[in-house]
Amino acid sequence: MKQDDFLGMNNRRWNRKSLNSFWWVLLLVLLAEEIMLLLSRGGGWEAQMRYMLIPGGINFGILCLGELLYLRLKSAYHWVVVGMTTLICTVLIVAHHSLDYIQALWILPIVVSIMYFQRRLVVYTALMNLSAFLIATSLFPALRDRTSLVEWLVIPLILGVSAFVAMNSMERGMELLQELRMESVDKQNLMIQNVIKDKMVRTDPLTGLYNRAALNEHLEMLLRYADSEGFSLHVAMMDVDFFKSVNDTFGHQAGDQVLKRIASAIREGVGSSDFAARYGGEEFTIVFTDRTLEEVRQVLERIRENVELQEHPGLEGRRVTISIGLHPYGKGMEADRLLEHADAYLYQAKRKGRNRICDHLTSTEA
Ligand code: GH3
Ligand code: MG
Ligand code: MG
Repeated sequence: MKQDDFLGMNNRRWNRKSLNSFWWVLLLVLLAEEIMLLLSRGGGWEAQMRYMLIPGGINFGILCLGELLYLRLKSAYHWVVVGMTTLICTVLIVAHHSLDYIQALWILPIVVSIMYFQRRLVVYTALMNLSAFLIATSLFPALRDRTSLVEWLVIPLILGVSAFVAMNSMERGMELLQELRMESVDKQNLMIQNVIKDKMVRTDPLTGLYNRAALNEHLEMLLRYADSEGFSLHVAMMDVDFFKSVNDTFGHQAGDQVLKRIASAIREGVGSSDFAARYGGEEFTIVFTDRTLEEVRQVLERIRENVELQEHPGLEGRRVTISIGLHPYGKGMEADRLLEHADAYLYQAKRKGRNRICDHLTSTEA
């Protein structure tokens, strides 16, 4: 992953936060200085100028420039943030050069740069602060006089070590984040795999309809609810007519294509609350939920007709038909019994000449 992409989306929010905190720091530093001047009773005009007005004014100017650039720059503003921190720290160090260890402030911009998770930025900040140290110490005699030879060596060393530690902490943070991301990707993949596996376990690979195991499960569950919820259930068993001869004449592959087309006709014919499955071989089952017998008959009739009208490129113009047995669920009936009843009417349909629907009413109607 590109470094710039890393947490990139939050950069603007953090830039704003940094700017806000700079304003607070400026205010607090001015306040602290004023209190110190009052306490030390050294608050003459010259001291006010040296410790308050000049550094405060310069830092105020830097922050105003920062606000202006914030409005202009969208993506590269973090470079400005560390640049500003360096300038503000340098101004404070020069103004308060008499304080012991004030040069430690040059470490602060390096700490700020960690927040953006960019190695380049840390290196750039460390080099910028090293330059600020060299330039400020060379330019301002008061600061130069307070800097011993050892400090000339130790301060760059401390800046280098700080940058090194900063990069290591950042690296560790990025590593942790990467691990978290991997973990959540793994979890997501596992979930997707489970969903796919679950679907595969319940689906017939040739036709894409539910398989027999899914049908049994669904039917058992529906029967349990049908009594208590009071909705109607109908089960239809379908069998392809003379399918053996299709296979024998045109081959098993051509037979498979026929089964797929019939499955499509079934899928297109049923509604969203119906459940269509391949029972096995060239037999299909549909469970109709909350429909009247008449509605179910109409759906089945349409499917039967559509199958009859289907053209089969591999079958040299031969049409294929299906026979259907239908049975309604009666209170307390077991799933197997319901399927057996529907199957009995299916064989009645076969006996009566195939390509038709039989149910408990048609057998007496005829
Ligand atoms: P009927 O009208 O009485 O149902 O006659 P039929 O020939 O369809 O009946 P039968 O049960 O004798 O033949 C069913 C055939 O279905 C036999 C079997 O080879 C074929 N069959 C079962 N499963 C598949 C399958 O997945 N693909 C193909 N191509 N054929 C299958
Ligand atoms: Mg059969
Ligand atoms: Mg058959």
